[in-house]
Amino acid sequence: MKLFLPGPVSVRSEVLKQFEKPVIGHRTKEASEVQKSITINMQKVFGTKEEILVSTSSGTGLMEGAIRSCTKKRALICSIGSFGDLWQRLGLENGIETDILRAEDGEVTDPNKLEEALKAKEYDFVGITHNETSSGILNNLDELKPVIDKYSDIVWALDTVSSAGGTPIDQDKYGIDIAITSSQKCLSLVPGLSFASFSQKAVEKAKTVENRGHYFDLLLLYKYVKEHNYQYPSTPAISNMVAAEYQLNYIVNEEGLENRYKRHEEMSQYFKKWANENFEIFGNKKYLSPTITCVKNTKNLEFDKVSQEFMNKGFLISNGYGKLAGKTFRVGHMGDTKLENIKEFTKTFEEILKK
Ligand SMILES: *Cc1c(COP(=O)(O)O)cnc(C)c1O
Repeated sequence: MKLFLPGPVSVRSEVLKQFEKPVIGHRTKEASEVQKSITINMQKVFGTKEEILVSTSSGTGLMEGAIRSCTKKRALICSIGSFGDLWQRLGLENGIETDILRAEDGEVTDPNKLEEALKAKEYDFVGITHNETSSGILNNLDELKPVIDKYSDIVWALDTVSSAGGTPIDQDKYGIDIAITSSQKCLSLVPGLSFASFSQKAVEKAKTVENRGHYFDLLLLYKYVKEHNYQYPSTPAISNMVAAEYQLNYIVNEEGLENRYKRHEEMSQYFKKWANENFEIFGNKKYLSPTITCVKNTKNLEFDKVSQEFMNKGFLISNGYGKLAGKTFRVGHMGDTKLENIKEFTKTFEEILKK
């Protein structure tokens, strides 16, 4: 089955073969080497010199960890869809005063509204969704950075779950403190791991926060990495990390990040052109995502039927998310998928449409 989902994505067999290697102990020198190698390559993916943390959880765990570990006063989530909404819930359910600045589905965060919000209350944590997977929209960091820059107390966390590895993040250029991503999206790994960068500023903030929990206490993970030669307090998904080491090495040193971003751009443009000719694309055309396309169901297709037709031919696609289910459907063009796979996919779609 070929996965055209916005995660999880298909994983190369060379990566899957890494799981056949003997399990290594998590307190060995080898384990430290695996983490060090992941760190060097994830720093390149995020565009940062800051420390890298690996979590044995999907990305949601690190989103929860970030807001809980680094909010002393009050958190603001700039939501442009379902995954931003989720981040506010994570804050509230951890007992953190968390407000939401919600853009309409298909739009980006308005820098003027962000400025108003930051003036109105004293926030020290701002969480922003980089690429909103429910609407296929990429927030514009150039527009948001100058506003956040005015508030030196703010720890800026960015959800790059469906963008890191598919498009540049440039963390240090923007002054982002925590970038978070999952294994199963643009990095083309199996689900089960997530990665975060953790800046010195985030470290200092977390030291002032009393109730950080335990498993997702990012300061605890950070200290352990620093003081115990790149290891973790509890047993991480070590075989998954071995596969990540292998795949990140491929991404950074074999394919190369620039080529990877270019390939994502080509797949996105090809699919979007096709979608425009056959349907319509959802959302503000100025800010379309390079890794996923949210398509308006202008032909009123019954999603379950179409999805079944695709499955019969060995493809998997996604319905619209939340409120957008039925009205839209989503196609992921991320990870190690190639342009020729997208061409094969649109050809199949045309056959299904003829029926
Ligand atoms: C998939 C996704 C998440 C959730 O990540 P999990 O790894 O499933 O926990 C969060 N944010 C965005 C933008 C996503 O695409």
